[in-house]
Order: sequence, then C-alpha cells, then structure tokens
Amino acid sequence: MRIDGKISAGYAIVCNCGAAFAAERLGVAVECPSCGRTALGADIAVDYYLRGTQRRASAAGGPMLGRASS
Ligand SMILES: [Zn+2]
Repeated sequence: MRIDGKISAGYAIVCNCGAAFAAERLGVAVECPSCGRTALGADIAVDYYLRGTQRRASAAGGPMLGRASS
C-alpha cells in the first residue's frame, strides 16, 4: 500500500489489491476499504516522502542521472 499523492481531502492511497481510496489523515494504521489490508500510516508516509525526495534529486541532477538509472 502506498500514498499516491496529496489531495484536498487528505491523501490518495493505492492498495496492493488495486483499490484506490482517500484517507483524511494518516492515523496509526490505514485500512483498505476493499480488501481490509492495513498499513502503518508512518510507514507509507515515509515511503511517500522518500519518493518525493528522490524525484527532486533526479530532477536537479539533470538528464545524466536519468540515463544512468535507466
Ligand atoms: Zn486493498
């Protein structure tokens, strides 16, 4: 399960089962309304912000970095 992005209603969450849903806030645990799987809010938040950092880093690194990682 991961955060797809921030939306006005909170966070857009995408579950491993393919369901997408909105969470108003990241509590201790986020539960998928489709399959019932849960994820720790802190875990998916860290994952989300780390991915954001990587995107910013590769954008700053320019096309050289993009070619190196592909
Ligand atoms: Zn699910």
